[in-house]
Amino acid sequence: MGEFDLIRRYFQRPFNGNWAAGVDVGVGDDCAVLVPTPGARWLVSSDMLVESRHFLSTVDPARLGHKALAVNLSDLAACGATPRGFTLALALPRVDEAWLAGFSRGLLALADASGCPLVGGDTTQGPLNLCITVFGEAPAGQALLRSGARAGDEIWVSGQLGDARLALEVFRGTVDLDGDGFQRVRPAMECPTPRLALGQALRGLATSAIDISDGLLGDLGHILAASGVGARLDADALPRSAVLAAQPVALQRTCLLAGGDDYELAFTAPPGARLPDVGVPLTRIGVIEAERGLRVVDAQGAPVEHGLQSFDHFKS
Ligand code: ADP
Ligand code: MG
Repeated sequence: MGEFDLIRRYFQRPFNGNWAAGVDVGVGDDCAVLVPTPGARWLVSSDMLVESRHFLSTVDPARLGHKALAVNLSDLAACGATPRGFTLALALPRVDEAWLAGFSRGLLALADASGCPLVGGDTTQGPLNLCITVFGEAPAGQALLRSGARAGDEIWVSGQLGDARLALEVFRGTVDLDGDGFQRVRPAMECPTPRLALGQALRGLATSAIDISDGLLGDLGHILAASGVGARLDADALPRSAVLAAQPVALQRTCLLAGGDDYELAFTAPPGARLPDVGVPLTRIGVIEAERGLRVVDAQGAPVEHGLQSFDHFKS
């Protein structure tokens, strides 16, 4: 199978006189042609996934397709954007049709569920590597940024943290979970849910937001640095699954504070803000303070010594 047959079979949807809402031209020409909404701004983000760096070579291809798009949509969610389309740059060692069928199924199922059509890309032979660029929109001036947190704002997080890291540690062999526990945390690692509805509902409410990809400490640190503020974070308030809560405290803290791959949203809002109910639990985990630095405390307010850092590709 050649390059163009591959693209047609796995990545091109039949053209029925309409590619998708807002797409004049999709896969198949030199450029995609997208229709901007009057008054909106484009929000654009890329994320690359490299085998053995970001995913295990044994991962189910459908889950990999889902995750490759999910981590990109999570960036749109963090900015409060509505997805409009994405491109896929793909390097494949060889044409493996079973792999391609699974990968494109997982990828396009999430694309459909998110209203985010695949509009183009590039395909080449090489070590397995995926790069997705997502295009989204938000009304002018309403994108959620990292820079708006103010002293007195409350810090919130969606969903639960730490399960993805716990599952990764099982794969690494450093943690043993019984079969049921493992099956309960594994989807967090392999099938994260981008919090798109939450991000859009936070427009005009949240003062800052970020998605947690490298661990809460580091990602919250980005908000603090961009906003020129500090924070007090309650380690005991961090939302966690029953499976994680049954682990030793040190492991819980590592997974919660520096786990990475959570793809939940952390955001700040003024006290008393009426937060949206989009079916995702929201937990208040701390408060923004004028004094710079991040102070992690327990439920009694005592400092928590953690010695943890967030994930950095060039440090680990
Ligand atoms: P060009 O040579 O003009 O850059 P290509 O031959 O690379 O175009 O790609 C042909 C068409 O297929 C283009 O519309 C491109 O966007 C699309 N395409 C290539 N690879 C992919 C992919 N992995 N997913 C979606 N569309 C793709
Ligand atoms: Mg061309």
